[in-house]
Amino acid sequence: MPRTEFSQPAKETLARRVAYHCSNPTCRALTCGPHSEPSRFVNIGVASHITAASPGGPRFEPSLTRFERASTDKGIWLCQSCAKLIDSDTTQYTVSALAEWRVLAEQRTTRELAGIPGSEFFPQAASETHTPIPRIAHLTYDEARELLVSSGWQPCLSHWSHGSNFDMQYGNGQYFWNKGYHEIRHASGTGLAMCSFGFQDVYGHRLVVVTAGEVVEEMNANAVVWRWYFESNDGDA
Ligand SMILES: [Zn+2]
Repeated sequence: MPRTEFSQPAKETLARRVAYHCSNPTCRALTCGPHSEPSRFVNIGVASHITAASPGGPRFEPSLTRFERASTDKGIWLCQSCAKLIDSDTTQYTVSALAEWRVLAEQRTTRELAGIPGSEFFPQAASETHTPIPRIAHLTYDEARELLVSSGWQPCLSHWSHGSNFDMQYGNGQYFWNKGYHEIRHASGTGLAMCSFGFQDVYGHRLVVVTAGEVVEEMNANAVVWRWYFESNDGDA
């Protein structure tokens, strides 16, 4: 079976969907720029295969047709070094992990395109001694949690018995608890269906994130981040 390569238009689509940045969330290197000759440009990006181009390759899926294998949703734009990395360790860099990188990279590009500033963090005073808080306003709780955790905020997990509390039995409470988000503290079944979640940083600061909205998967309804605040160390509000 021959290798299934991406077409040139498919490669360009993959690159442009992430504005020519590497899609590895911890790399994000820019992959193109000007050449010293005015009519040329330098490209160090690669349209990598989420599922391998030929049998025996990394993450090969025999069930795919040639057409499916060459479609853009089986590709991810990476810098050369990350492209090498993902093919060198397929245990860590699985199909689902790479698909998640792609989604995150495209979401970030969408936010940047919409004029939301490139930094994912609120401006932080240099004297601050807490872990930076990423921009989480109006994100779904899944997205906000991902950003908080990758920024260094650690979910404060409740004791397993918390799952048998009344507000964890229904609606959002049950949904988030069953998802393994055991940092959930309270879930309100009425009004804006607010839920609160607890996080902690290495300095011992406690951050409370509050979402509003009912999660109804069939309706694509989601809980989104409504507000957040530091909790004082002597209170337990
Ligand atoms: Zn990279």
